[in-house]
Amino acid sequence: MNRKLRKRRNRIIVALILFAAIMTLDKSGLLARLTGSAAEPYVAFVLYLIPFLISGYDVLIKAARNIRRGEAFDEAFLMTVATLGAFATILFPNAESQAAEGCAVMLFYQVGELFQSYAVGKSRKSISAMMDIAPDYANIERNGSLEEVNPNEVAVGSIIVVKPGERVPIDGIVTEGTSQLGTAALTGESIPRHVEAGAEVISGCINMTGILRVRTTKPFGESTVSRILELVENASEKKARTENFITRFARIYTPAVVFAALALAIIPPILGMGPWVDWLMRGLTFLVVSCPCALVISVPLSFFGGIGGASRVGVLVKGSNYLELLSKVDTVVFDKTGTLTSGTFNVVAVHPEAGVDPDYVLSNAAYAEAFSDHPIAVSIRAAYSGKIDQARIHDVREESGHGITAHVDEHVVLVGNDKLMAEHGLSWHECDLIGTILHVTVDGTYAGHIVIADVIKDDAAQTIQELHKSGVKRCIMLTGDRNDVAQAVGTRLGLDEVHAQLLPEDKVNEVENLLSHEEEGKKLAFVGDGINDAPVLMRADVGIAMGAMGSDAAIEAADVVLMDDKPSKIAVAIQVARKTMGIVWQNIIFALGVKLLILILAALGIANMWLAVFGDVGVAMIAILNAMRAMHVGQQKR
Ligand code: ADP
Ligand code: MG
Repeated sequence: MNRKLRKRRNRIIVALILFAAIMTLDKSGLLARLTGSAAEPYVAFVLYLIPFLISGYDVLIKAARNIRRGEAFDEAFLMTVATLGAFATILFPNAESQAAEGCAVMLFYQVGELFQSYAVGKSRKSISAMMDIAPDYANIERNGSLEEVNPNEVAVGSIIVVKPGERVPIDGIVTEGTSQLGTAALTGESIPRHVEAGAEVISGCINMTGILRVRTTKPFGESTVSRILELVENASEKKARTENFITRFARIYTPAVVFAALALAIIPPILGMGPWVDWLMRGLTFLVVSCPCALVISVPLSFFGGIGGASRVGVLVKGSNYLELLSKVDTVVFDKTGTLTSGTFNVVAVHPEAGVDPDYVLSNAAYAEAFSDHPIAVSIRAAYSGKIDQARIHDVREESGHGITAHVDEHVVLVGNDKLMAEHGLSWHECDLIGTILHVTVDGTYAGHIVIADVIKDDAAQTIQELHKSGVKRCIMLTGDRNDVAQAVGTRLGLDEVHAQLLPEDKVNEVENLLSHEEEGKKLAFVGDGINDAPVLMRADVGIAMGAMGSDAAIEAADVVLMDDKPSKIAVAIQVARKTMGIVWQNIIFALGVKLLILILAALGIANMWLAVFGDVGVAMIAILNAMRAMHVGQQKR
């Protein structure tokens, strides 16, 4: 609890104790015996005023300030009018003074507010636990000793030193040392990752065991940590429709109840339906009950909790609107490579043409793929044992969904699928192995092909099952790969539909087509790794990017970012979204229902101020407690 909150709490406790003491004096008749019964109400009035002001002076000030600004009709205003009205009953000598009630309303309202600040603080903590990943220095070696510098000032390509126990401040590549990296804060994954020279490290991870020297590959501002923080900080700006609805609702609702209360206090006594003071009290009670605080706070708090809870397991949601959309998803479209499959291909076979050396096929392919980030390229380079002399490579052109053309020395090398071959008017040989086939031609002559196979991710099949179980109707895979590969993966995973041999633009068309057939009110999510699928990520109702460490473009284009590349996090994300929306609606219905009931009782004169206070504060507390449930995201069971 911070200092301000603690001060407020102490103030309210003091007021509560005073209030209890005064009330004991008052109701036991002791006060009346001391002062004489004629003066008693006036003395009590003054006494009650003390805890009232101690606990509520800030509310009164806020109400006054808002009225001056022409923004009356908020909670502070409701409470001020209701409590001052209750104190004003002292002006009716024939009726019982309601000073105790007035004081109590303010006190318990403040207790509720305190509770609410506490809850907001708590859920903010789960987000600031994320914020804790922000490192505030980087170690640079100068003249043999380490110096802590502002990470903002570290140039790309500098060598930084990360000691055990420290966080990696900037993304980079290990040049020296071995260690275990804890990624729990980023991904929710508790098993540390082993790194050694050559490994990529991302900022935000904790270096657990050894000293690492890291060559930075990005400025601090573009490192993973900075991007995540930016993303989380901006999340509250994108409000869900339900949230906006509640804000708008409160804006109309509050003045409406004020006028209703006014009418209730004035019209019946004018019509001679009873004494003024009775109806005044009913009007005031009505005001207290109608305070919309339970709604106004619990709805955003639920979303906030959902986003915070998701971030703890490595699911970053860019705004509560996306949480709302996610909860309505009934179609999930997956990219294959890197999403459902690991994207690390194994070379299954090299089939050279008669008289061609298999190594010739592989080395040409590795050279052509030297600069590509595509998972295929990475795997080909890994399979090639020789060194790649980059100076020999020129004019590389990557054709999305086709392959690569490059000049190696004076030779034109093409590596790609059937489409690439057909496009260049080259002939090729079919292959009867199931796998991704990469044809290789040198100067227009067919050299042979390489068969590579991708591995399906461990948790992919389970993810599809879980999605189906949680009510997702269709799981569809789109891929640029061959049909037989796609079908094999589809059957293994239990996918509902598989579409193969798609170019990136075909994927957009396919998604557009699915979107246009989407059931009313239902949403479509696309999941990709961001390597040539950013346009599809943008087009889907909810774009989910995997492996935030992967591609910057994907993080930019996506609405939901999964820190690691486990598809099971998609199911987690959807479950969090559904749970959060469930809580939001429970709160809306519960709060409105109870309020309506007490409002009716108040109008009929059955509910008194006490019931109203406890109704209001009680509903708010229950709603807040309920909202805080959204924060608890069960670690995925694996
Ligand atoms: P996916 O839809 O499975 O993510 P892509 O759209 O990235 O796959 O690629 C589709 C196909 O295009 C690949 O299966 C491969 O045949 C070919 N291809 C794409 N990029 C390359 C590359 N860099 N080298 C060789 N072939 C490639
Ligand atoms: Mg892809």
